[in-house]
Amino acid sequence: MNEDILTRLDQLRSRDLPVHGGRTMAYVYDSGLEGVEELAAAAQARFAGVNGLDMTAFPSVVALENDIVARTAQLLGGDERTAGTFTSGGTESCLLAMVTAREHARRPRSTDGSLQVVLPSTAHAAFHKAAALFGMDVVVVPVNPATYQVNARDLAAAITNRTALVVVSAPSYAHGVIDPVEEVAHAAARRGVLCHVDACIGGWYLGHLRMAEDAPALPAFDLSLTGVTSLSVDLHKYGYTPKGASVLLFRDAELRRHGWFAHTGWPGYPVVSATLQGTKSAAPLAGAWAVLERIGTQGYIELSRRVHRATTALTKGISAIDGLRVLGRPEASLIAVASDDPTVDPFVVADEMRLRGWFLQPQPAFGPSPANLHLTVTAATAEEETVRLLLLELAQAVVRARALGPPHVDPELGSLASLLDPAALTQEEVSSLLSLAGLEDGDELPERRAPVLTVLQALPPALSERLLPEAIGRLYRAHDGR
Ligand SMILES: *Cc1c(COP(=O)(O)O)cnc(C)c1O
Repeated sequence: MNEDILTRLDQLRSRDLPVHGGRTMAYVYDSGLEGVEELAAAAQARFAGVNGLDMTAFPSVVALENDIVARTAQLLGGDERTAGTFTSGGTESCLLAMVTAREHARRPRSTDGSLQVVLPSTAHAAFHKAAALFGMDVVVVPVNPATYQVNARDLAAAITNRTALVVVSAPSYAHGVIDPVEEVAHAAARRGVLCHVDACIGGWYLGHLRMAEDAPALPAFDLSLTGVTSLSVDLHKYGYTPKGASVLLFRDAELRRHGWFAHTGWPGYPVVSATLQGTKSAAPLAGAWAVLERIGTQGYIELSRRVHRATTALTKGISAIDGLRVLGRPEASLIAVASDDPTVDPFVVADEMRLRGWFLQPQPAFGPSPANLHLTVTAATAEEETVRLLLLELAQAVVRARALGPPHVDPELGSLASLLDPAALTQEEVSSLLSLAGLEDGDELPERRAPVLTVLQALPPALSERLLPEAIGRLYRAHDGR
């Protein structure tokens, strides 16, 4: 009985991307270390039924969280005043940083209009999500078109008396470059504005890499800098923990309290929460704690060194492939690969790589950033043989993509798109636009994604943001005829 059910789950998984082996270069983080996942699974199982909603009923969750936050604060420039919160992931950490900043700004300053967040155009989409959820305005500052770093003076100049928070990335997800955190944090502090460092992807990796004896020169980016008031770091990325694990650090508990929610005005139990969820499983917390204990500081330093070596080798190797170039100067473990040959379309390269068993994540053109492929280098990819194979097959994929040429986009679509008001589209118009884009109303996405991505990239954001939920919404339906 149990076996049958598990077999069915395995069957469902069979069409997914692999989560081990280092060939899926986004979404998954594989330490490649033996026994780590088994330990995490056992730790998660022990805590699966524990409810983190009530820390007085389950004091174990407080002990585990305090341990994890203390370790994170120590790694990332905290001191005895530092406070933190364990969250379900980077998005939740960013959301909480935003709502904390909003509530903090509301008290001392009486402002007209919505509060603002000032951020570089490369900041993670999670901050836009937070602004949408919490009624804040986003002020987007363009980045240097060659380095993809924001200029600290540009960011400072965008601060107004409505600004609640300034955000920088260490590093940015799309290009893996580190913003000038020190200068921005200083400027924010001078204006009395909070500054959040989004180190969701890079914090754990960079924090350990800089401890290595042969560490490369790295800019400071953490809470040790004057003016940095909060920092987010995901454990389920380079901490290689099970998913659902991130830490949000605050300068002090006085700042942190602004983001907490308490409610006693109902007939049920008194509510006090630091995060968005109500009932929450303690499994990710226990899983994360166990993995941090197991890998340990020395283990993480070694994993970071390995990833650094592989990223350097890949950056060099990719730049040497005729038709490809690396965007900006990757300072962490992320590489954005664009084409320098108009006959080589990056999305076609991605399709070709997928056929060869690799997932490189397509990133559509945006502002000065051309269409490119995102590579997250994790320890499993860092095996010498894997790096060699990746470069070899990437070179082959480029040759094939050049022969195939870029996808053809119906020129009618561009002119049609410019005439449409996304807010006023009828259901029929949405359907015909999606078919024009190559998406029919079925269960399956097309095998080759390049044509769809090319269409998507050609549409104005307001239109693609109207169409995407429709396309994805078709996949989720209650009546699935099982
Ligand atoms: C991954 C990431 C996030 C969001 O984290 P999730 O865990 O996916 O919710 C935010 N910022 C950066 C820089 C990231 O890389």
